[in-house]
Amino acid sequence: MKLKIAIQKSGRLSEDSLRLLKECGIEISNGSKLKSTSPNFPLEVFFLRDDDIPQYVEDSVADIGIVGENVVFEKNKDVQVLEQLGFGKCRLCLAVGRNEEYSRAALQGKRIATSYPVILQGFLDRENITAEIHEISGSVEIAPGIGLAEAICDLVSTGSTLLSNGLKEAETILHSQAVLIRGKQLNTEKNAILEQLLFRLRAVRQAKNNKYILLNAPNHKLDQIISLLPGMKSPTVLALATSGWSSVHSVIDENDFWNIIQQLKEAGAQGILVVPIEKMIL
Ligand code: ATP
Ligand code: ZN
Repeated sequence: MKLKIAIQKSGRLSEDSLRLLKECGIEISNGSKLKSTSPNFPLEVFFLRDDDIPQYVEDSVADIGIVGENVVFEKNKDVQVLEQLGFGKCRLCLAVGRNEEYSRAALQGKRIATSYPVILQGFLDRENITAEIHEISGSVEIAPGIGLAEAICDLVSTGSTLLSNGLKEAETILHSQAVLIRGKQLNTEKNAILEQLLFRLRAVRQAKNNKYILLNAPNHKLDQIISLLPGMKSPTVLALATSGWSSVHSVIDENDFWNIIQQLKEAGAQGILVVPIEKMIL
């Protein structure tokens, strides 16, 4: 029995999806353009258009899939989001002409071009705005320039596409990243494979969010330094060959990193090394 996963065939999520599987120790051999099987994990990979993935997962053609949250919300299929994956980050934004004053009220009665009519309609309903949605499937950013719409609602990561089309970001209506989704019907055997995959995924994701830190500390400062390092349980302290000094090892959160390093230095820590962690199991 193999678990079937659907990932994007070619596009912004493809490379990162494959890399994530590889980091989980799952090799993907070069199969056909459509599918491929792992030689060392019970997984079969389907390469599909991202827009189709929620439907395939709902229909159990694939058991699980990797797709942007934007697509999950837009397609509104009967699938369950298991885990955010930390890549494919973007936002769904409303944008208007660079020289226009933006307000929600000013959208009233306007035409908005988008590939995300469902998400946009949800936003307009919540805000009590009546506007005309023009659904187009690509190059939404050119719509104002050719007189199709006054505003657009499109995915943005850096905003450079908007700028080069004379548009400005007015507001964000959704933050999105790639997620792992599953269908409702998985038999016991497939569930067990999924659990294994999730275990590996979480270990990889945890590791990315954390750093291993080693430093030297004078013994009379140890208490203060240890109090700055939460670690997995508590830091490891080893005596250095030089008397009166210890080596302290711990794990710190990527987000607290600069803040903690500064405090450690102030507390007397020296020779601080920070190294990446490959896998982390709590
Ligand atoms: P497909 O041929 O599979 O339908 P596509 O053109 O719809 O491809 P891509 O442009 O490759 O899709 O985007 C795939 C996903 O990548 C998006 O749905 C979104 O979740 C994410 N993404 C991240 N950054 C951006 C961005 N700047 N613009 C568009 N999508 C982005
Ligand atoms: Zn697509």
